[in-house]
Amino acid sequence: MGNNKFIGAHVSSSGGVENAPLNAAAIGANAFALFTKNQRQWVSAPLTEKSIRLFKENCERGGLDPAYILPHDSYLINLGSPEEEGQEKSRAAFLDEMKRCEQLGLKMLNFHPGSHLKKISVEECLDKIADNINWALSLTSGVTAVIENTAGQGSNVGNRLEELRYIIDRVEDKSRVGVCIDTCHFYSAGYDIVNDYDAAFGALESIVGIEYLRGIHLNDTKKPLASRVDRHEVVGTGLLGLDFFKRFMQDSRFDNIPIILETPDETRWAEEIALLRSFSK
Ligand SMILES: [Zn+2]
Ligand SMILES: [Zn+2]
Repeated sequence: MGNNKFIGAHVSSSGGVENAPLNAAAIGANAFALFTKNQRQWVSAPLTEKSIRLFKENCERGGLDPAYILPHDSYLINLGSPEEEGQEKSRAAFLDEMKRCEQLGLKMLNFHPGSHLKKISVEECLDKIADNINWALSLTSGVTAVIENTAGQGSNVGNRLEELRYIIDRVEDKSRVGVCIDTCHFYSAGYDIVNDYDAAFGALESIVGIEYLRGIHLNDTKKPLASRVDRHEVVGTGLLGLDFFKRFMQDSRFDNIPIILETPDETRWAEEIALLRSFSK
């Protein structure tokens, strides 16, 4: 038991996407997340042939399999936007992100579902998100849309598991939709993985279904249960604590999917990965 965990961090792709696998290998990761474009701009230059080739070469050299690479989309994208302009920009940018994943040979795109901006209902927002996923999937192939649970900060949707399920129910190609559970967001959204680990992950199984779990963002948290505030913390130093991480690393439900750190101090990622690995032995 325990050798089926694939752990890494959301590493920098500064200077080009081809640098991300190098940054992952340098911290001893066998999984990683990255942005395939500048995450704070609507439009970025297309990936060059050279960059794509080097990315694939560096992944192979670092023993980094696309099955454990979980790209994250831009923070600007809101597929649930109540505004026409926001919809248009978000749809175009999301499609571009999916196509970049295709070009890089990647199998998944992780994204935050969206925000209703207090202008439409949660359901209307979720409907728009599902429509946009269907549209993007129809124009691409081989890339799965991986919806991340949120802390429920502001008007973000996707903090309740039922909302993730609601979207999945409306996606036509069930083979290309999944979820990523962020442990910091999960706790902030009110799922007590510290004192009620079995019930919290049991809810994930019964409401969403473990077959849809395509990745984990493994973060400790600074903020209390059900605070709906999103503040990541270094593994073992926040409110989740080391016992949670030990239990998580022994849990076979999290085998063979990318487990990504988005913890705040990147100088500690190598140490955090080694610590987590020691729990799974
Ligand atoms: Zn996350
Ligand atoms: Zn977060």
